[in-house]
Amino acid sequence: MGRTVVVLGGGISGLAGASFNALPISIKMESSERLGGWIRSVRGPNGAIFELGPRGIRPAGALGARTLLLVSELGLDSEVLPVRGDHPAAQNRFLYVGGTLHALPTGLRGLLRPSPPFSKPLFWAGLRELTKPRGKEPDETVHSFAQRRLGPEVASLAMDSLCRGVFAGNSRELSIRSCFPSLFQAEQTHRSILLGLLLGAGRTPQPDSALIRQALAERWSQWSLRGGLEMLPQALETHLTSRGVSVLRGQPVCGLSLQAEGRWKVSLRDSSLEADHVISAIPASVLSELLPAEAAPLARALSAITAVSVAVVNLQYQGAHLPVQGFGHLVPSSEDPGVLGIVYDSVAFPEQDGSPPGLRVTVMLGGSWLQTLEASGCVLSQELFQQRAQEAAATQLGLKEMPSHCLVHLHKNCIPQYTLGHWQKLESARQFLTAHRLPLTLAGASYEGVAVNDCIESGRQAAVSVLGTEPNS
Ligand SMILES: Cc1cc2nc3c(=O)[nH]c(=O)nc-3n(C[C@H](O)[C@H](O)[C@H](O)COP(=O)(O)OP(=O)(O)OC[C@H]3O[C@@H](n4cnc5c(N)ncnc54)[C@H](O)[C@@H]3O)c2cc1C
Repeated sequence: MGRTVVVLGGGISGLAGASFNALPISIKMESSERLGGWIRSVRGPNGAIFELGPRGIRPAGALGARTLLLVSELGLDSEVLPVRGDHPAAQNRFLYVGGTLHALPTGLRGLLRPSPPFSKPLFWAGLRELTKPRGKEPDETVHSFAQRRLGPEVASLAMDSLCRGVFAGNSRELSIRSCFPSLFQAEQTHRSILLGLLLGAGRTPQPDSALIRQALAERWSQWSLRGGLEMLPQALETHLTSRGVSVLRGQPVCGLSLQAEGRWKVSLRDSSLEADHVISAIPASVLSELLPAEAAPLARALSAITAVSVAVVNLQYQGAHLPVQGFGHLVPSSEDPGVLGIVYDSVAFPEQDGSPPGLRVTVMLGGSWLQTLEASGCVLSQELFQQRAQEAAATQLGLKEMPSHCLVHLHKNCIPQYTLGHWQKLESARQFLTAHRLPLTLAGASYEGVAVNDCIESGRQAAVSVLGTEPNS
């Protein structure tokens, strides 16, 4: 009998990890009845698509290209909805500061011009950055790093907002080394972020395919799928089933214990199974509670990787118009502690507006506002989030009419937080796994990147480490 590899978690990381053909017989376990984890797309009454989790995947870089390769291998090319480089959703992003939407400057000319809310052209921040000495700390908060290199305005407006947009997190707590490794590395290697990004770009070898070439030629900024991004995990599931992988749904793993022969016993509610190797693609904090007593130091490191919640409010309006065209806007914490930003879904993907078409926007709520509410123990009702989101859409975008459709979802602990010193948690987890030769590989958003591309790569890397060689997917 071949080796049995059990993959825990049916989110995109676990699905990607299990999908490599060369992997020995694997069993996929998922606690809920649905696969895809945070990737979830639902249809409204007029056929419009509403994304409850991610809504766009970036094609850039080697990881972006690998995801496009996977899309082609799954036969999804004709479903791809690209946002081309000349499209407003690729070119325009906004910050909502002082009660006004400000377009973020693009191109050299944009950097040379005064660009409110910044008091001086951003060119000066760039020039100043080139002269700054290299930082000496092994890690630093995003805020401190940005303030030191680019000045207080860029730190408290741009980087604060970016951390809210990507991690729903606080730039004063998040780690530059783990959240934005390319910026950290650029400073370490070239003493300057700008020099590092300029000189270090384009070195990683990329896979090649017709879709990847098209994305490069048309300068896609992101892409989705016609029926929503959930088509990706659905296609992966079909692929896994066709390979004979048994996918167990509605089966939360309740514990892991080590057998005398170095195999795992994976306990489910009413049964158990044995595995030669486990790939964990469930959140680090969940895994920490399943590990046996012998792995207590590993459990301690994993339990320290926390996550924050986000309330996602999808709104659709009939006959309404946006004041600006772009991808969306972010809101710094100094402007509003609860509204992270608003995505203008209809601008990027009008094909998903339904019939009759209606304007779709998504309001992301979180930050210290949501954390305080969660800590207070008060009832977090759908009405509370809907009202807060409608107010934000009315004040920030002038959408004062009642939405024709509204979906509210509170995603608890959905985005892992790579806080200062995150790398040390990863290091101690790795050291424990190596020293004790545990047949366990970690994958998923908890470790080295939360974007869908990072998660797919983490699944691929997990398969590589189990196989000891590059898989032909
Ligand atoms: C609101 C939101 C918006 C986002 N927007 C974007 C975006 O636009 N672009 C982008 O690239 N990324 C985005 N992301 C990030 C990205 O979607 C996630 O980081 C990614 O989907 C996480 O995938 P995962 O497989 O690592 O984890 P998950 O999706 O969390 O999957 C883990 C799975 O494990 C299962 N599980 C948990 N416990 C157990 C157990 N005990 N036994 C068995 N199974 C278990 C869970 O049910 C879940 O299905 C967004 C995330 C959120 C929440």
